[in-house]
Amino acid sequence: MPRDADCIFCRIVSAEVSASVVYEDENCLAFLDVAPLAEGHLLLVPRDHFSDLTSLPPPLCGSVMSLLPRLGSAVMTVAKASGFNVLVNNGKAAGQAVPHVHIHVIPRVASDGLGYRWNASKYAPGRAEVLAEAYQRALRTPS
Ligand code: 5GP
Ligand code: ZN
Repeated sequence: MPRDADCIFCRIVSAEVSASVVYEDENCLAFLDVAPLAEGHLLLVPRDHFSDLTSLPPPLCGSVMSLLPRLGSAVMTVAKASGFNVLVNNGKAAGQAVPHVHIHVIPRVASDGLGYRWNASKYAPGRAEVLAEAYQRALRTPS
């Protein structure tokens, strides 16, 4: 099982470091974020250490992501939320502080003041077609 002795989430998985665990199975663990953006903010992690989503084997990614409907329902009930955000900060540039794949599930209620800049822009004429082709080429090449 891939593990990094210096990784805080590996240490939580192995119970060397305590956490408020809310769910576990053979592949995954979910626990309360120690510094929540809202009460009930959860982190969902694979037990195995993979630093980011691009290195996560697709079947394991499937197992982890398949828990989101259940966790989301629990967040709605327990945190009395009327919605939730599912967030992955992938890579340092995206704000990832802990290099062990994790998914934030953040309870939301209307007017809770949480938010982020969503400065939508527009493509110059022709640019979307160029990008779409580049993506299609990249996605034809197995990683
Ligand atoms: P990131 O910025 O990497 O997406 O988020 C890392 C998250 O892990 C942060 O929200 C932070 O509060 C949480 N976190 C960091 N260390 C610990 C810890 O020791 N225990 C728990 N429960 N959460 C942690
Ligand atoms: Zn780890």
